[in-house]
Amino acid sequence: MGISTDFSVAIAGAGLSGLCLAQYLTRAGIDVHVYERDQGPFVRRQGYRIILDRHGLAALQESLPRPLYRLALVTGDEPGGHVRFTDSRLRDAFTVNFKEEPHATRQVDRLTLRSILTTGLDGRIHYGKAAVAMDDGGRAGLRLRFADGTAAVASVVVGADGVGSALRPQITPDAEPASTPMVGVYGRSPLRRDGVSVIPEALRNSGVLAIADRPGRAFFFTSMRFGERPREAFARLAPGSYPPTGDDYVMWGLLLQQEEVPPGLRGNLLALRELAARMTTDFHPLIRRLVDTAELDATVLNPFATGRRPGRWAVPRATMMGDAVHVMPPFGAHGGNTALRDAALLGHKLVEARSSGAPVEEAIAGYQAEMVPYAFDAVDNAARLMRRLTGGAAAPHWVLTRVLPRLHRVTVPEA
Ligand SMILES: Cc1cc2nc3c(=O)[nH]c(=O)nc-3n(C[C@H](O)[C@H](O)[C@H](O)COP(=O)(O)OP(=O)(O)OC[C@H]3O[C@@H](n4cnc5c(N)ncnc54)[C@H](O)[C@@H]3O)c2cc1C
Repeated sequence: MGISTDFSVAIAGAGLSGLCLAQYLTRAGIDVHVYERDQGPFVRRQGYRIILDRHGLAALQESLPRPLYRLALVTGDEPGGHVRFTDSRLRDAFTVNFKEEPHATRQVDRLTLRSILTTGLDGRIHYGKAAVAMDDGGRAGLRLRFADGTAAVASVVVGADGVGSALRPQITPDAEPASTPMVGVYGRSPLRRDGVSVIPEALRNSGVLAIADRPGRAFFFTSMRFGERPREAFARLAPGSYPPTGDDYVMWGLLLQQEEVPPGLRGNLLALRELAARMTTDFHPLIRRLVDTAELDATVLNPFATGRRPGRWAVPRATMMGDAVHVMPPFGAHGGNTALRDAALLGHKLVEARSSGAPVEEAIAGYQAEMVPYAFDAVDNAARLMRRLTGGAAAPHWVLTRVLPRLHRVTVPEA
């Protein structure tokens, strides 16, 4: 047996793409281990929802055992809906409809998805292992080194360690992401107060992007309603696994200019929520209420960055997936979907190499050649959308916030 028929895979990062690839390879009987920096699966509560498009759904379907894929679907929110673009007082400017593909999207809770993705990987995910670098592991392949001084040897190393990837400088030395002028402060607030939804019926199926009078500031929100209650669905389809949450919520994000955020705020949850409150005083009362009722431990600051096309891949037996290689601003909601698509594609290439006996380096190069075009299309689109919606260009901003809203009736009364 050659190297290509009995290889092993070490993945840095147990996020969406790392876990999805681990599922794919485990199903195919390939020896895979995932090394995660966090001390456990749910140490950071930052649970927001993520919209899975047809690529994300197809990747999950290919990678997960059937009951787990079913679990992702049944706990998800009803598909479809639209995004409304409004002024800061929630007067409609225009609406983008997703109804042409009503069954091709699904809104899922990210923590629930992560829990689904860890199911069945017992003994294969190692927490408290922050990858720092890799070096030659001799005949066995590469040695992945961790901050605690330990190491793991595998034929193939995959960097799925997110935007701050520790492995990127070695794998694609010329592709550090570029920062952008924008940041997001994200939060989560309960959907119901005293049993009544805080989101009016008119916005039930909408995501809303409210654009402020001042260019470069906007507020996004959308509600996440679980389809089947996670507790019951997990008991039926993945007994023994842990459903991390089950309460419907509103996810929101305040988009700001980087320079408006005082230094040292990252991780200071109270100060972040106060900043969000200060920056939304001119917005509709519904938006101010969402910020006031936010759950503190779900508040997070996220500077927007854009990945750079790798000029060369320096380590033939190592590659990267997801935000580690093609981080994008969250406009268009493609970051997670593209990460999942990478995982299914790389899984497919590796499994194919095992059955054909082709060198694993070729499988990796094939994955990179296919991934870069679709991933960087998504990066370019997200960056363009960000500039268009939050950029300083006076005319489009004026049309969005002054002209168009006047043509529409009031969607959400302020009383
Ligand atoms: C608020 C918000 C909303 C979003 N909504 C959407 C959406 O609707 N649709 C969509 O497609 N995308 C969405 N995204 C983007 C999406 O979440 C990311 O693109 C996606 O999670 C990237 O997956 P990943 O596997 O590359 O990395 P991640 O999911 O970020 O996982 C990286 C993992 O690596 C770990 N790690 C980091 N460093 C190390 C290290 N040195 N060693 C070991 N482990 C390490 C981290 O702890 C983490 O667990 C959203 C993002 C945000 C912030």
